[in-house]
Amino acid sequence: MSKQEIINRAEQTFYKVYNRFPVVFDHGRGVCLYDTDGQEYLDFGAGIAVMGLGYSYPGFDEAVHEQVGKLMHTSNLFYNQPAIEAGEKLLQVSGMEKVFFTNSGTEAIEGAVKIAKRYANQKKMGMDYEIISMKHSFHGRSLGSLSVTGNDHYQEPFAPLIPNIVFADYNDLDSVRALFHEKTCAVILETIQGEGGIYPADPEFLQGIRSLCDEHDALLILDEIQCGMGRTGDMFAWQGYGVKPDVMTTAKALGNGMPVGAFLACGKAAEAMVPGDHGSTYGGNPLVCAAASKVLDIFAGQNITAHVREIGQYLWEKLEALKDTFDSIAGHRGKGLMQGLEFKVPAGPVITNALLEQKLILIGAGTNIIRFVPPLVITKADVDEMVSRLAAAIKACGIQ
Ligand code: PLP
Repeated sequence: MSKQEIINRAEQTFYKVYNRFPVVFDHGRGVCLYDTDGQEYLDFGAGIAVMGLGYSYPGFDEAVHEQVGKLMHTSNLFYNQPAIEAGEKLLQVSGMEKVFFTNSGTEAIEGAVKIAKRYANQKKMGMDYEIISMKHSFHGRSLGSLSVTGNDHYQEPFAPLIPNIVFADYNDLDSVRALFHEKTCAVILETIQGEGGIYPADPEFLQGIRSLCDEHDALLILDEIQCGMGRTGDMFAWQGYGVKPDVMTTAKALGNGMPVGAFLACGKAAEAMVPGDHGSTYGGNPLVCAAASKVLDIFAGQNITAHVREIGQYLWEKLEALKDTFDSIAGHRGKGLMQGLEFKVPAGPVITNALLEQKLILIGAGTNIIRFVPPLVITKADVDEMVSRLAAAIKACGIQ
């Protein structure tokens, strides 16, 4: 079947909420994807920051296959060992006290928001407690997550959402302080804003929010769904700030392609929900947890975070040089292997040219920003190759 026939079938079949690139991927190896015509693509998007270990990392596929042959699902009416192992390892690397496994990032956020609401209810704050979130944030597409997502474009079609969510300016501590009052029960933010354009939190900003939460007995919820799992060179980005959240979320690279996320809590937040408050049929099933457990083993055994720190620095230098070469590049931000280049013009044509002509997968963040979230196992040679293909794509688009 031709590529066009496959695409036509897809467009007739799927509910139309995505605009997709005209490429049909067939398989992956290492840090490359291969389309149905056998063409190789260098992947600097990693399925939107999911494939931290790339494709077919030694031992990972085997661990998943083994679990498929053993047991895939039982429900949470019973215990299963892969979930216990994955949970213990996640608590160990995060220093949190309790974990709940979800099927996705947005469900992890739902759980975190429910903890905040339950915490407020326990404190008998009434129904008018507030959660502070950030403008230009992204926390997911389900209605609770959308309610804390500071982006009119995503929110407006689904209004009204959960009430009593207020939005501060990211990296502006005064704007957060101004929203705080005795009814504030939680602050939620991404440690590094991803979709919003790759904006790392300033250390003083995050530390200031932690202090405000402590003063007002409010929970600090950090969304590490995109920036966590080694991407910044720390296991979780907040660990590089010396600031510990009460609640955190993870997903994406946790399963390296298997759909698994989690919310984790410590201290008073770890006790806020009680039996009957939350649940999930699939959440934490043996199959996805065997994958997460293996991912966490590989991270520890191969010191993936040290590799990210080294390659992240190399990527930083190469992108700085690229910024100096092209007037059209206005800014460069990020940390580890989560970096962004901001263009003075829309970046869409460069992303499309890179994909279709240079066989380089890049993803955008906002209109003008190219986001670099490759597999964490890329090498310096991969970075060199990416930069040379990206430079060619920029030139081809005539936006020197
Ligand atoms: N939070 C952040 C920071 C994200 O980047 C995303 C997805 O891109 C989500 C939440 C939602 O995760 P999911 O798409 O798995 O529901």
